[in-house]
Amino acid sequence: SEQPVKTEPSGQSASWRRAEAVVPRGVSSGHRVGWQQVIVRTRGAYVWDQEGRQYVDYLNAWGPIVLGHSDPRVNEAVLTAANTCDLTGVGPQAGEAELAERICAVMPSADKVAFCTSGTDATMHAVHVARAATGRLKILKFHGSYHGWNDHVAVGSSRKDLSETSALNTPNGGGLHPAVVADVVVVEWNDAAGLRAAFDEYGEQLAAAFTEGYVHSFGCVPAVPGFLELLRELCTSHGVVMVMDEVKTGFRAAIGGYQTICGVTPDLTAFGKAVANGYSLAGLAGIDALMGHLGAYSKTEATIDGTYNASPYALAAGNKTLQIMESDDIFSTLHARGEQLRAGIADAIAEAGAPATVAGLGSEWCVYFRPELPTNFREAMQSDAEMYGRYHASLLAQGVLEPAFPTGDRRLNAATTEADVTTTIECVRVALRAAVS
Ligand code: PMP
Repeated sequence: SEQPVKTEPSGQSASWRRAEAVVPRGVSSGHRVGWQQVIVRTRGAYVWDQEGRQYVDYLNAWGPIVLGHSDPRVNEAVLTAANTCDLTGVGPQAGEAELAERICAVMPSADKVAFCTSGTDATMHAVHVARAATGRLKILKFHGSYHGWNDHVAVGSSRKDLSETSALNTPNGGGLHPAVVADVVVVEWNDAAGLRAAFDEYGEQLAAAFTEGYVHSFGCVPAVPGFLELLRELCTSHGVVMVMDEVKTGFRAAIGGYQTICGVTPDLTAFGKAVANGYSLAGLAGIDALMGHLGAYSKTEATIDGTYNASPYALAAGNKTLQIMESDDIFSTLHARGEQLRAGIADAIAEAGAPATVAGLGSEWCVYFRPELPTNFREAMQSDAEMYGRYHASLLAQGVLEPAFPTGDRRLNAATTEADVTTTIECVRVALRAAVS
């Protein structure tokens, strides 16, 4: 089972202990477990802890921070929105149509967009729309892929029991409804025969099939050639709604999402994270025929409701973030820095003779402490946690902040400079020596 690694600067800071006394585990999101210091300041590529230690940030809030931390252009747009027309209880919200138009212009699967506040909401709405449209119940997803915490998809990505014989569709945690969990069909990522078999058996009962397109849930694991095309074909031939969960890849791998890179267009797309550079905004985009099922208060149609859905502050952040992406070519910067980093890490791995590999896409990467790149969840989870623990501790001590989880994906933001990356590569050399020692 994958536990967060323990690292230096070690010990529990007083600020962390204060939180732990009143918040379970000290944090309100499981992804934040693993380091008992508190970040108190952020700017550009950097964050600072309560004792003033500076780190170059490669967590970037697990995805949202794409332009840079505390981007002044985005913050100014948010303040202006808050001071002009804040949340109202009626009608479209300020900036809503504008942002939906922007997304429809760049995302192939988007004829219409509905906004919510988190990726978990977005994938739940995708399930509801797919069930309303097809009248079917079952959901297919891939082993290890995380699609948020709603019961319909919180299955088959637990890191607790990954023996060769363990079932694929175990619930991710307690409290989930067993009947809902039982309707989830889980297939190993990149297993074309398993995918065909699942469609043969359940094809006529499936409402939707979920894919990340490019998996970030256990690092960076692309689909093997033809796999996404096969999924698209099977969905079409069985009348199943294909959902691409672009919560991590949307507005980061490319402005229009991974679907513009892989060339496979889903029926629905869940997005969130990078769309608003850190403000809580997410949504569901899709083809007209499906988005039409989000609409009526009737027994058979789905609906979308939420007091904070499309809040004007989040929309202002989203509009400004996308406006910047439309006018400045931030993706060339993100990709160039990502390439530079991956190449430098690969050289450092070879030099250290470490049993490790590096994979990634655009601004994201993952270092696996195993000799070969993984192609699925079980393989990724064979990454050596002890070596990773030493690697991570060394990076942290050198001022490089990365996930405490060995298979956690990491990413840089557009404020990260070439010099930051060069320095990071030197830190990686030191960390790899520590890992293999
Ligand atoms: N889908 C994917 C692919 C994700 O990575 C995440 C979050 N890590 C989610 C859905 C859930 O998003 P949120 O945390 O905003 O609910």
